[in-house]
Amino acid sequence: MSVGATGGQNADNPSPPRLAWPYASAWVVVAHPDDETLWAGGTMLVHPETKWTVAALCRRNDPDRAPRFHSALKLLGATGTLGDLDDGPEQTPLRAADVQSAVLALTGDGDPDLIITHSVCGEYTRHRRHEEVGAAVLALWDAGKIHSRELWAFAYRDAQAIKKADIFNELPMEIGERKHGLVTQVYGFAPDSFEAKAALQEEAFWRLRPVKEI
Ligand SMILES: [Zn+2]
Repeated sequence: MSVGATGGQNADNPSPPRLAWPYASAWVVVAHPDDETLWAGGTMLVHPETKWTVAALCRRNDPDRAPRFHSALKLLGATGTLGDLDDGPEQTPLRAADVQSAVLALTGDGDPDLIITHSVCGEYTRHRRHEEVGAAVLALWDAGKIHSRELWAFAYRDAQAIKKADIFNELPMEIGERKHGLVTQVYGFAPDSFEAKAALQEEAFWRLRPVKEI
């Protein structure tokens, strides 16, 4: 089912489709520069009316990734910041408190209408930092340390959008092509990479914490 730009509900959900996009401001809290584009870039491009703020917790000092991130944000119509959490190849587990502190340091004050982050299950072949960031955002939200009307998590399995997720959006072709350009030209993924192929397809989200129905 295509719900286009409306952010509507899945066909299996008995709730009626929502006809408006009620999020004037939104945070996208991710582990790495590129995750915002890979998992939510189409949604960001479909809704330029939203004030998008991206917090990516790793790679602030990565001379390759950091400039690509800032170029991508310009094209996404977003602002954002990078953190410098450890992201070494060994992916040593981080203390939950440290990840939560890093999230708070990057997001600051403010109550966006919507926060989007990683699923605690990740989006593809296990990536510890994704899961840690998702868990940190959820814990902070439940502790009342960050606030938003709704909290969504990326809904992907093996990098494919989950059709039965709460929100499943087919990207309009023009949006998919712009996202594909971000993935290949700005972030430099090969055209035959799974990241580039996925860019043209759907995006899906779990609604973790709707405070109130709209
Ligand atoms: Zn990542």
